Formats: sequence, C-alpha cells, structure tokens
Amino acid sequence: MKIAIFGAGQLAMMMIEESRRLGHEFVLIDPSSNPPASKFAKHIKTDFNDHETLEYIAKNYDVATIDFENVDISSLEFLESHINVYPPSSALAVCQDRLLEKNLFKELDIGVTKYGSVTNINDIDKFSEGRRSNYLIKSRRFGYDGKNQFKCNEDVSKIKNLLSNNECIIEEIVNFSTEVSLICVRQQDNKIFFYPLIENFHKNGILRYSLFPFLNKELQSTAERYARDLLNHFNYVGVLVIEFFINKDGNLIANEMAPRVHNSGHWSIEGSSMSQFEMHIRAITGTLNKLSDDFKPSLMINILSKCPDEKKLSLLDNHHFHNYGKEERSLRKLGHITLTKASVEDLI
Ligand code: AMP
Repeated sequence: MKIAIFGAGQLAMMMIEESRRLGHEFVLIDPSSNPPASKFAKHIKTDFNDHETLEYIAKNYDVATIDFENVDISSLEFLESHINVYPPSSALAVCQDRLLEKNLFKELDIGVTKYGSVTNINDIDKFSEGRRSNYLIKSRRFGYDGKNQFKCNEDVSKIKNLLSNNECIIEEIVNFSTEVSLICVRQQDNKIFFYPLIENFHKNGILRYSLFPFLNKELQSTAERYARDLLNHFNYVGVLVIEFFINKDGNLIANEMAPRVHNSGHWSIEGSSMSQFEMHIRAITGTLNKLSDDFKPSLMINILSKCPDEKKLSLLDNHHFHNYGKEERSLRKLGHITLTKASVEDLI
C-alpha cells in the first residue's frame, strides 16, 4: 500500500524500518529540514496544511497516518473525504486538548484526577482553595515533555504569562506510587490487542526509562476495559497509548492518551515478536491477525541531550542502541537503548 505519514521524526523512522518487509511505499510530510525519517522515504518539506500537498496525497496514497499529534485537524478532515485516515481526526482533536481528553475520560467512567478550566489567578485560588502547592497548571494544547506546565505555587509571573498566551487547565497533583502505560491497537474489523502494562519513570515531565512488563492482573484488566471503551468510542484504527498514574490506593488514574506509537513502547522492537511500529502499520493496512505473546523482559533508556560514549556502551551486554541521527541539544531525545534479560529483577 501507499502510506503518507504526517511528521517525520523518530517514530515515523521506526514505523518505516520495522515494517520494511511488508513492502509498503511511504511518503513523509514534515516542515523541518532533514528529520530522522527522511533518510528512509520520500520527504515533502512543507507545512501540514499545505493544500497542494494534501491534494497530491489524496490522489496518490491509500492511507494517511501520523507520528506527531499536532497536525491540523482540517488537513486530516480534508483527507478523510478521499482516503483512509488512521487514527481518525476525531480522536486527534480530543488528544490535542487536555480538557476535552479529561472530559472524555470522565464520561467513559475512567479514573481522573480533580481538574478544571482556568483563565486567571483568581480561578486558581478558588479551585485550589488556597492550596496551590497541590496543583499543576497546564496549557490545554501544545504541552509535551513537561513543556507549558508549572506547579501553581511557582513564580506568579510565569503562571500569568502561561495564562495570557494559552487556554489552561488546573489539575490536582496525584500522589502516585508509580506510572504505567497501556499500548493497544484496533483494526477496522474490530480486532483489538493489548500489550501487558509498562512501568514508566519520568523526571521533570520527560520519560527517562521504561520497564516491561508491569505484571498486575487486576490493573491490566481495568486498563484494558478503559482502552476498549476509548477505541470503540472513536471507531479507532491503529495504535493508541494511555498513560496512567497508580495512586496510593492502588487505582489507575488516567493522565493522558497518545493517538500514535509511543516512547514507552520502544522496547517492543527487541522485547516483542511484533513491535508497536509493525503493529500500527499492520492495523492501518488491515493485515493484523494476531499479536504474539512472545515477550522478553526489557528496559528502555532514553538518551537525552548528548549521545553516549560508544566505548562505555560496548561494556553493556545484550543492549541495542538506536540513534535517531539528531543534533545534540539540551533535553532533546537523541536515541534510546534497550536491554533485554531473563527477568525484570535482572534488568533492575
Ligand atoms: P504530561 O505532560 O501530562 O504528560 O505529564 C508528564 C509527567 O509529569 C507525568 O508523566 C508525571 O510524571 C508528571 N505529571 C503530570 N501531571 C501530573 C499530575 N496531575 N500529578 C502528578 N504528576 C503529574
């Protein structure tokens, strides 16, 4: 099939590499110069809403997907009237807005922290009942890797600045014991598959490492119930990832969802007989028949800011280094390392 991917970062790069043997033809739409995936497929360097490009995709490609969730909804809606767009623009519209996302979680009876919409400092004081240190303020849109979010007791000028440039939400800080994510996939014929949960460790809002699997039967089945409801709600096709906190009572609290393959699933290249990337491409082309349960305990470590010394790296046994070929920059995700072992205890 002919597949257009909006966004040409490392996620698109791994989708192309991991599905190479399936024989699809890819085109990438991305406004940046030399993004990671551009070494592996034709790259159209343009804005996501460039009409000429959208018409070209509509005429020449079978299906469109994304590696980046902030693609213009109007572009995807235009394409939806001509070709398959997976995931659907309706799912993207909700995932682009933290308020709509939390409202949907609530509507589907999925646990969420206390949250609300705020437009000024008075709203924050009212909502937090004066306990600002227990709350976070986040922009509704364009927040990722801890960007555009602060604790409500931080410098007032920072918060005022955020409020004056963005629509925002306030959320109660969850006193969590750990964080987990569920990777799931749905195909048009309503086949749905789930990986076991993954445990994730963040620092300053950025994922640092993921440990697979996080085995807990009860939480797994609750997470799968939540995911099934979300997938069916959108008539979703492709990979969807839900990130949860596990609070001190041992319950799942949904933080957010990503309508795409996800950083917490990179271990699956080595740790599963089918990676999340292949699974996504198979689901959007209607060729996903089963998800094998052949998994290896895995640890995925993000490489941020600076690439590791190759000599030191070679001392690690059984490791796989994935270099995204990006220029070094503070806190930029440059690559990841996956280690597989016989057990999670060995990995720790
Ligand atoms: P987000 O930008 O919402 O994906 O958040 C990134 C990370 O910040 C999460 O994975 C948590 O580690 C932390 N975080 C975000 N929101 C909350 C919250 N309400 N309570 C506790 N930690 C949070």
